[in-house]
Amino acid sequence: MDQAAIHDIFIVGGGINGCGIARDAAGRGYSVYLAEMNDLASGTSSGSTKLIHGGLRYLEYYEFRLVRESLMEREVLWRMAPHIIWPMRFVLPYADGLRPAWLLRLGLFLYDHIGGRKLLPATKTLNMRSDASSKPLKPLFAKAFEYPDGWVNDARLVVLNARDAADRGAVIRTRAKVVSARRDGDHWLIEVEDLHNGGIEQVRSRLIVNAAGPWVDHVLATAVGQNDVHNVRLVQGSHIVVPRKFDDLRAYFFQNRDGRIIFAIPYEEDFTLIGTTDQDYQADPRDVAISDAEIDYLCDAASEYFAKPVRKDEIVWTYSAVRPLYDDGASKAQEATRDYVLKVDSQGGAPLVNIFGGKITTYRRLAEATLEKIEDVLGPRGKPWTSGATLPGGDFAPDGYETEVARLKGSYPFLDLTLAHRLVRLYGSKARVLLGLAKSEADLGRRFGADLYEAEVRYLMVHEWAATADDVLWRRTKRGLRLSGEEAAALDEYMTAERVNHSAAAE
Ligand code: FAD
Repeated sequence: MDQAAIHDIFIVGGGINGCGIARDAAGRGYSVYLAEMNDLASGTSSGSTKLIHGGLRYLEYYEFRLVRESLMEREVLWRMAPHIIWPMRFVLPYADGLRPAWLLRLGLFLYDHIGGRKLLPATKTLNMRSDASSKPLKPLFAKAFEYPDGWVNDARLVVLNARDAADRGAVIRTRAKVVSARRDGDHWLIEVEDLHNGGIEQVRSRLIVNAAGPWVDHVLATAVGQNDVHNVRLVQGSHIVVPRKFDDLRAYFFQNRDGRIIFAIPYEEDFTLIGTTDQDYQADPRDVAISDAEIDYLCDAASEYFAKPVRKDEIVWTYSAVRPLYDDGASKAQEATRDYVLKVDSQGGAPLVNIFGGKITTYRRLAEATLEKIEDVLGPRGKPWTSGATLPGGDFAPDGYETEVARLKGSYPFLDLTLAHRLVRLYGSKARVLLGLAKSEADLGRRFGADLYEAEVRYLMVHEWAATADDVLWRRTKRGLRLSGEEAAALDEYMTAERVNHSAAAE
């Protein structure tokens, strides 16, 4: 094989960290190949609480570096992708017998002041005898604190990073599993299995980035052939989704008696998202699922606060994911560091960069830090560039969402207003590419259920690597909450028939 066919960087894993690194590296001029064994964001990166946050709770564990970096990222990421990231305010009721008010105030003071806040408003104290946020709560709270953080559509953040990386020249392969990686002289020889047809592709690369999240040790043990690897601690976290418990646009931050906290967040217009939990996990991350104990825990914890209890039988959806936390030897899962650790392993040959830990919030900074390590071994190729560059569809002002919806409605008057809002929230200015020359609802093609039309499904297959109904219903959109089982099956059938024609065009 000639030298020209050797990639600079091979990335294992299409979660937020792999895709963020691919985008940054491709933008600097490195040739990049990324392999994801399932769908983009099918691992931990679609199972988060979806907050762009400093992590108020991490201050208790003295994670000042992480909290500061995360807080600084809130506004950077909002500007980068105002369609999928936006500010959210959190109401933290003060409850007698839990953390004292002075401690909460101190934490929030730090939160307000160490993170370079410019656009986000400061923390304030609420009188819960009169504030509207007290309406759905039990009448137990005299006072609350309201502070700002951000909301992110986590799965779309991953896909948009992959899309941008591909637009800048990266090769992005999904359903492509790394089965072996061996050093061969000054480079790596990697075998990638195509899970659609079982074929093996051989790829050569000067460096590998192992961004396999909860599978990072598994990749080292099985593909790279290392013995006795124990770098990450796997910690399961689950969420429940119930019909909307409150009308307020603000979210709630509830403290529990065990010292943990949960969030109750307005979700997909008609729902409330409640989570999360923290429990050690040992099995294959692919099999993670909510346990009965977690369901009880979340219902009980939320019911301590809401006047109308959260009942098991009203749960419409649950999801679970596994945090790949760097194993710092902490005794409790909730105490393990949330910070990321990068380790370069050269063993006298081609380098391997392992990514341990990391949060959605810090993915861009993690990518920059990884690129520093890569530059050390491959030589520099361009400067950091991602802090000011928008993601696909995000080229409008941070507060310009409603204007963007009005503009889209202006260009496509037949669009239902709710659908126009949804399309701008998911695709931003790229909604126009999706709608193309459509002049009427009929031009959007077959309707699969709710407001999901063929035009959107085709867009997702052609531009965003969607291959199955799950990819569309649970990661690119959350239409899974609205479609019936039969409608989802019909969509899957349609996509299977279309896949051969359209998936190739995504690269
Ligand atoms: P992943 O997203 O898991 O990606 C790794 C990918 O590697 C997977 O898609 C997998 O399929 C692929 N892969 C594995 N092996 C192979 C192979 N052999 N070949 C090819 N591909 C392979 N962070 C925040 O900032 N805010 C939050 O609110 C937040 N909430 C969270 C709540 C929970 C319950 C959890 C679990 C995490 C939360 N996080 C949050 C943290 C954040 O979600 C994770 O740190 C982040 O998603 C990890 O991304 P990753 O790319 O490292 O891993």
